[in-house]
Amino acid sequence: MRVAIGLGANLGDRLATLREAASRIGRLAPIVARSHVWETAPVGGPPQPDYFNAAVLVEWRGAPLALLDALQQIEADLGRVREVVNGPRTIDLDVLWIDGQVVDEPRLVVPHPRLHVRAFALAPMLEVAPGATDPRDGAAFVVPADPGVRALSFAL
Ligand code: AMP
Repeated sequence: MRVAIGLGANLGDRLATLREAASRIGRLAPIVARSHVWETAPVGGPPQPDYFNAAVLVEWRGAPLALLDALQQIEADLGRVREVVNGPRTIDLDVLWIDGQVVDEPRLVVPHPRLHVRAFALAPMLEVAPGATDPRDGAAFVVPADPGVRALSFAL
């Protein structure tokens, strides 16, 4: 199954962290596409630095929950500490979208519940999965206008 994974970082060396996370994701599953790196203003939570966000599209052969487990292991290995809800983080990895599949479990909801309102997640996702549709209703995802979300000139 094709899965879009969102990556975000707003502490430390954001680019190095995103690239290390992408490299580790690539060891889990073949990466089919990589987005640009986007610089984005934080949404919610306390005052905090801007994020770097990106997305990759992977070909995943296991269960969705097994992918979540693996991504959470990468977050832990890269030093993510959960302190404040929506607070700054070294690395955040989300399962954004699975082609043609809905997941609704206590630990995993796909499409990601706030995907449709989050330009910082959708803009890079649509680079790696152009024309992606919501498996619940077949509607195309549209990036909401957000001046705080801008593509940088380089890819992940
Ligand atoms: P966060 O702190 O934003 O990374 O949220 C992590 C929590 O969200 C974990 O407890 C996950 O089990 C849960 N979660 C639910 N759906 C998803 C998803 N699509 N991708 C990543 N985490 C998810």
